[in-house]
Amino acid sequence: MKLHEGVLFLDGRFQERGAKLEVINPSTAQVLGQSVEGSAADIDEAVRLAQEAHENRTWTSIDPLERTRILGRAAQLIRERESDFSAVMSAEMGMTLNFAGWMEVPMAANALDFFASLVPQPKGVTAPFSLAGPQGDYFAMTLKQPIGVAGLITPWNFPLLMPVWKVGAALAAGCPCILKPAPQSPFTALLLAEVLHEAGVPVGVLSVIPGSDEAGRALVAHPGVPKIAFTGSTETGKHIMRSAADHLKRVTLELGGKSANIFFDDTDVDEAVSGALFGIFLNSGQVCQAGSRVLVQRGIYDAFTARLKQRVEELAVGDASDFTSDIGPVVSREQWERVRGYVAQGKASGATLLAGGGEVEGEGFFVPPTVFTDVTPNMTIAREEIFGPVLAVIPFDTEEEALRIANGTLYGLAGAVWTRDIKRALRFARDLQAGTVWVNTYQILSPTLPFGGFGQSGLGRELGPQALDPYLETKSVIVDLNGTPLQMF
Ligand code: NAP
Ligand code: MG
Repeated sequence: MKLHEGVLFLDGRFQERGAKLEVINPSTAQVLGQSVEGSAADIDEAVRLAQEAHENRTWTSIDPLERTRILGRAAQLIRERESDFSAVMSAEMGMTLNFAGWMEVPMAANALDFFASLVPQPKGVTAPFSLAGPQGDYFAMTLKQPIGVAGLITPWNFPLLMPVWKVGAALAAGCPCILKPAPQSPFTALLLAEVLHEAGVPVGVLSVIPGSDEAGRALVAHPGVPKIAFTGSTETGKHIMRSAADHLKRVTLELGGKSANIFFDDTDVDEAVSGALFGIFLNSGQVCQAGSRVLVQRGIYDAFTARLKQRVEELAVGDASDFTSDIGPVVSREQWERVRGYVAQGKASGATLLAGGGEVEGEGFFVPPTVFTDVTPNMTIAREEIFGPVLAVIPFDTEEEALRIANGTLYGLAGAVWTRDIKRALRFARDLQAGTVWVNTYQILSPTLPFGGFGQSGLGRELGPQALDPYLETKSVIVDLNGTPLQMF
């Protein structure tokens, strides 16, 4: 397995650093390797290089179609090295090899191809010019320009996809960037740096500085970084927004969720249960848009819960590197304790423990897939993001009630409705307060569609045709065609 131990990626090469950051394999609870504890000085150096690259137009002076080819080559290299990427991310954060190879790596390559296609897209317009009062003749246009150095901070749950969504957008927009990956998953991010460098991204345009605490804060506070893109917890997102306010930085935030996966009586029960399982247990529930609240109409409630119990008990929990594991560990001891805390709260809350809730043998940070039924919307397990394989099932009677429960959250990242009634499906598509709504499916995303949240699930959108906007400034240019410029004095 290729682990870039003890190094960060700066100035176009892997550089050794003294300070070490232990990365634990959550399947075994053993040390996987040593990464770097990036410092404020490392961030300073990365910002200086990125500012130089911005000022010298190191990246943007390359023909846009060549930049498209470079990002496309990187996408291709990711595909060719799928097994390297999958092995590393599986070992460092516990994503099952099966899922990594099936979805995470192909989705990351696909997203990078999409960003490659956006490189030549940003364009201004020419506009008719209107001046109240004096007459005149003017030529007016707008320019779209890269904002400058972008600071990118990512979580561990999708160690490749999250960095790609940010690095891909920044580079496609022409912004040199600095990636600070989560301390639990630095090695995948460093592999991405290797691939982008090999594909032709020039020296200084991309740095990857792993670390915990110091590096991320230094990046957000740095006056030379006008743009911050962050994915992670809502609490940290609020910190980042406050800190970024000092320099009025542009901020995009992709935060937590407590999304509702809603099943009406007219849904086939087997399909419903499959949809609920896929919605919550993918990546051990460590998915921001996880369908962690399942709402089931009373007419199928008993059949649904009976079938759900059966299916959950069939799931294989095990080492993420074992291809037969359906569910791997959660990422860390800290997360393991947090999730178990929620399971204990669920048991104490009066909800029915339908499945799971116990111990899994082995040293790793395993949580059995756990389902609570008869959950009421005010219970903690129905309100807070657990970020683990824990599902809250809530019964409902009417469409109005389902909508009220679904929208009764501070979050608004995603949601789904399962029904054969097209009118009802479209009413929910319109009325769910969420950035993504699925009908008769869950989880699936496309880089061509914007992704982000309503409410406290975030700010701004990633992906989609406007994916580069947060990395661009708009400039209005007004050119006098009169011969004698307008003057009053
Ligand atoms: P987190 O605190 O949001 O961390 C995410 C990233 O932000 C990491 O790279 C982290 O690295 C960095 N960070 C943390 N505090 C920062 C600050 N003040 N300034 C700049 N960067 C900062 O998430 P976590 O502690 O790993 O997980 C806690 C909870 O967050 C989870 O239980 C889950 O509920 C939620 N979460 C949500 C998502 C999502 O996709 N929505 C993803 C991950 C976690 P350092 O801490 O090393 O600085
Ligand atoms: Mg932290």
